[in-house]
Amino acid sequence: MVLWLPAQWLAVGICLFAGAHVLQTSAVRHEPVYAVFGSLSLFVALYIALTAMLQMPAQPLETVAWIERTRLAVACVIYPVAFVFIALFTHMRDWRKWGYAVAAWFLTLLVVNLNQRWGLLRDSMRIDPVLRLPWGEQVAQFSGTVSDLAWPFFASALAVLAWSLWRCLALWKMREQARAGALSTYLAVQLLVVAYGQVATVKSWRGPDFTALPFLVLVVLVSHVLTKEWRQRSEDLAASLDALAVESSIREEAQDSLRKMAYRDAVTGLPNRNRLLEQIAAIQGQHDQRRKAALLLVGLDGFHSVNDALGHEAGDQLLRSFSDRLVEQCQHAMCVARLEGGDFAVLIGEGPSSDACDADVLARCLAESMSRPLRFDAHALALGVSIGIVHVSQPGPDAPLLLQQAALALRSARNRSRGSKSIFEPRMQTEASRQIALIRALHEAMHAGQLGLLYQPQIDNQGHLIGAEALMRWHHPEFGVIAPDEFIPLAERSGLIHVLGRYALEQSCAALRSWPVDSRRVRLSVNVSAWQLRRADFTDMVTDVINAYSVTPGMLMLELTESALIDDATTMGNKVRLLRSLGIGVSIDDFGTGYASLASLKSLPVEEVKIDRSFVQDMSVSEPDRFIGAIIELARALNLHVVAEGVETDAQREALARIGCNAFQGHGIARPMEMNQLLAIAGGSAG
Ligand code: C2E
Ligand code: CA
Ligand code: CA
Repeated sequence: MVLWLPAQWLAVGICLFAGAHVLQTSAVRHEPVYAVFGSLSLFVALYIALTAMLQMPAQPLETVAWIERTRLAVACVIYPVAFVFIALFTHMRDWRKWGYAVAAWFLTLLVVNLNQRWGLLRDSMRIDPVLRLPWGEQVAQFSGTVSDLAWPFFASALAVLAWSLWRCLALWKMREQARAGALSTYLAVQLLVVAYGQVATVKSWRGPDFTALPFLVLVVLVSHVLTKEWRQRSEDLAASLDALAVESSIREEAQDSLRKMAYRDAVTGLPNRNRLLEQIAAIQGQHDQRRKAALLLVGLDGFHSVNDALGHEAGDQLLRSFSDRLVEQCQHAMCVARLEGGDFAVLIGEGPSSDACDADVLARCLAESMSRPLRFDAHALALGVSIGIVHVSQPGPDAPLLLQQAALALRSARNRSRGSKSIFEPRMQTEASRQIALIRALHEAMHAGQLGLLYQPQIDNQGHLIGAEALMRWHHPEFGVIAPDEFIPLAERSGLIHVLGRYALEQSCAALRSWPVDSRRVRLSVNVSAWQLRRADFTDMVTDVINAYSVTPGMLMLELTESALIDDATTMGNKVRLLRSLGIGVSIDDFGTGYASLASLKSLPVEEVKIDRSFVQDMSVSEPDRFIGAIIELARALNLHVVAEGVETDAQREALARIGCNAFQGHGIARPMEMNQLLAIAGGSAG
């Protein structure tokens, strides 16, 4: 029965297969350990094949010598390749220079080996009688004298083996159990084979050649480990790919919803400004000149008050309720969008076609529909809408400009009165541009000396000068004199009012310093905007200016408006009290136009009220005016001084005097004038 030799050829097959397989794998996985191990397996296959050939009986001595020489040459290649492989397999760093040294050394041995007749290990060789294995198989045996050159080879092989042991320990430390286990088993088998060789030599045993066995063990175990790792990594990769696929689908969903968000308003679900602009551009892009369209900007009046009073949650519900109403009313609209706050836009086709309607008619329907209260968050409120309309023309302004024009029309409607509508006119654009130009120019105006004060006298019943109001004027180099009614609101909107207000106070205090001593009972009134009063440092600013100009506080009167006092009654009350404690007078301007009642003034140490000029202008001069009469009566009861503004005629002045008013200001008495003119009057009055 033959067993031993076929087993060896089987081992050759296994190594060939393993080598080819791993080399093929290395083409996919670009890791050098695979390529090196594949090559190692092929060399091991060759080594085992030569070992098997060596053991085939009945070969001439020359052939045996040739096979032995070749086998040793292959071993000289196997050692450096194994060195590189173990270095890579055990994750050794900086192995290259050692690798070159090992390769160079074994190459030298290989060259020497090829030049020896019997190979490197022997000086002579002879064929021994065949060895009969227990099952009857015959195996060739040979022996010979060991040459001196054999020892460097054995020493080198042992050094590589010892180094491999050290690397194996390193693997165990790295907790790479699978790799360490395979390498340990190989080394154990290798050591056993070396030990067997030694013992066999000492005891002169005759037995089969086991030198190829450890290599076989190495190839089988390592290819098993590498294949397992490869499979594991493939599985990990597949799992990562799956996770990546899930992630990319999540990302796609997110992008999808972002895309939607970019075109949808989050509160109402209506299209937003971007979508509206696209729709307008699409209409403008159509080449049908007969197709007409209009854009309506619908502003929900009072939305901000609801938001402030009931909170944002209620505000959002109000918006949703309003958007439902709007969509219901605008069924033919091409687009109903929400812009910001309580502002919505409706884009409609105009003209005879069935899906069109008239902007004017729609605006009226919308206004009417608002008479039904809006229900939201357990509230029901009837709010109005203001509407700005612009007609979309082709060719015409682009979509953003159209929207801006509609916004200007809406602002004009709101300025006129809440709940009205306005169609865009080019003059609105001109006015808006002028406003922008004015805001820009206002920055420079003060430094350029374009702002100045005029003073309007106030007299008593006897015609004596008792005070004057400082009124600001802007001498614009291009637009001429600009009235404060135009630039004060701009200053308030742009925040410049604080600088302007301080300037007015400083100029007034400078004027008071030059006030003649005998005119010191004449007081100067300075207007204070609500925005100024709201600033936390307002009273500090007033104190600073008064101190800087060393003005007697009693000569100064600050005119505040009712609206400024009511929006935070406690804080404002404290500020008024502080001003009064400094000795500064406080007057309520435009009295009757705001919401303050005289009763609410009771708690404030105010000194004076000024009856608004609109009441004076509308009053009847033939019979006592009951409204003004009531104001004067209550003011008297509260011990307040009353000044009537806008007195233009003697008849008005006399009628006011008859119902008890004793201070007057207006064109009928004197127009606002320069300081030197006022001083001349003051001198005359005092004289
Ligand atoms: P106001 O405080 O009500 O000032 C009175 C306004 O009525 C002044 O207009 C004055 O010129 C005008 N006026 C006086 N008598 C008559 C009259 O008989 N008939 C008519 N039709 N008008 C008369 P002006 O100077 O244009 O000021 C307008 C508003 O600008 C002021 O109203 C005040 O609110 C504001 N203002 C003026 N100067 C300043 C200032 O320095 N600071 C602040 N914050 N506001 C100022
Ligand atoms: Ca005033
Ligand atoms: Ca006034």
